[in-house]
Amino acid sequence: MRATKATIDLGALRHNLQLVRRHAPASRVLAVVKADAYGHGLLRAAIGLEDADGFGVLRLGEALALREAGYSQQLLLLEGVFSADELDAAAMHDVSIVVHHDAQLAMLEARAATLPKPVSVFLKMNSGMNRLGFKPQAYQAALQRLEACPGVAAIQLMTHFATADDEGGIASQLGVFDEATAGTSYPVSLANSAAILRFPEAHRDWVRPGIILYGATPVTGVTAASFGLQPAMHFTTEVIAVQTLEAGEILGYGARFTATQTTRVAIVACGYADGYPRHAPNGTPIAVDGQLTQTLGRVSMDMLVADITHLPNAGVGSVVELWGGLVPVDAVAEAAGTVGYELLCAVAPRVVFKVTG
Ligand SMILES: *Cc1c(COP(=O)(O)O)cnc(C)c1O
Repeated sequence: MRATKATIDLGALRHNLQLVRRHAPASRVLAVVKADAYGHGLLRAAIGLEDADGFGVLRLGEALALREAGYSQQLLLLEGVFSADELDAAAMHDVSIVVHHDAQLAMLEARAATLPKPVSVFLKMNSGMNRLGFKPQAYQAALQRLEACPGVAAIQLMTHFATADDEGGIASQLGVFDEATAGTSYPVSLANSAAILRFPEAHRDWVRPGIILYGATPVTGVTAASFGLQPAMHFTTEVIAVQTLEAGEILGYGARFTATQTTRVAIVACGYADGYPRHAPNGTPIAVDGQLTQTLGRVSMDMLVADITHLPNAGVGSVVELWGGLVPVDAVAEAAGTVGYELLCAVAPRVVFKVTG
């Protein structure tokens, strides 16, 4: 069988969750498991994250799958519901919803009398990111409508930061949020991964970590290891062929690498159809037999190439780490001009998943 696999380390997930708790000891943790737990597999990752106080998901189906699997924690639909039917189902299964727009609020009011149960709501403010949420000046009015709505159970307040991971910081958005919510005493949720690590003043009642649970960095240029995070995904495969190129010979599609000296290369069973980024250039880090080396040539659909000139014992059957413990996913992402988030979410369905720890 083709060896391309993603091994999910439940111990690393537990470790990273503990690290979040050490950073935000007074906050409840809503583990964000949208996008199939950032590519790790929703129900697989949930095992490692079962001590979380709640889970944040995007789609109702993900919340219902967690309920069905026996998770009784708080579940939150991060964009709320997309239809009145979904609203009924969310209420029925005690799934909390974000309300971020007038249309959602109106739907809730229209449906309140016939909901199977009242639904818990996180009211979202647009404190400056200008993606989702009520403007600060419209927020109190939306809150009053929720308070008056018989279909609403608990109310909590939230916003989301645009630049918690860079020099932009959160001060401006935090100031806007605090001013517009002054005098209210509802529980508050503000912090994503970057804000958890960088801005304790934003921890409040619920933190919402995503990427750090999976052991990748939320802050470009700062390694996950320097935060004490452990990679939850080990993406590995094997060498399926070896070639020796003489000076002047080319390699792969587009002849994007030409040998300048005798070069031994390993043909590796992983390509962009497995989720490896096609934009990874010559020189992207990769490990063969536990030794760091680099990719050469263009990534193809089912294969890529690693330089093993300096690894004489490497050959067919050698284990290759695409990312994991030796090669941080963030290092591959940086080489390919993206972020670890995108690479983790893009691991393809044909990759075989295993669980360890
Ligand atoms: C995805 C998401 C998060 C988690 O973000 P990370 O940067 O992965 O920690 C938190 N809150 C909301 C609303 C999200 O959509």
